Amino acid sequence: MQDCIFCKIINKEIPAEVVYENETVLVFKEIHPAAPVHLLLIPKKHIPTFFDLQQEDAGLLGDVQLVAAELGRKLGLEKGFRLISNCNQDGGQLVMHIHYHLMAGRPLHWPPG
Ligand code: AMP
Ligand code: ZN
Repeated sequence: MQDCIFCKIINKEIPAEVVYENETVLVFKEIHPAAPVHLLLIPKKHIPTFFDLQQEDAGLLGDVQLVAAELGRKLGLEKGFRLISNCNQDGGQLVMHIHYHLMAGRPLHWPPG
């Protein structure tokens, strides 16, 4: 999608610190980290919000969560991590391309803001 900042990262039109990539998923470092480990996991398909998901996208979200588990192991995050996705205005979503924040490296408070 032309005006989507995350699609531009996928298409290498703007730079990002990519830490993982496969056919369907891209992972890069959050530009304003809120934890020692703070990554953004995105499906390469442009889907603005959860409300735009189709049944056919179910596997794609499964892919994202499998990548989270793989990175959790690779990065030594056995103590735990948080995988969170903000949806629309009240959820605090700023970038309208579904993404998951993977945060770790310190105890994370609950509930968030
Ligand atoms: P959200 O509020 O869940 O939509 O979060 C979007 C996140 O993307 C914010 O935490 C931003 O700091 C982050 N972000 C925006 N642009 C970039 C970028 N070019 N590289 C890395 N992270 C970004
Ligand atoms: Zn996009």
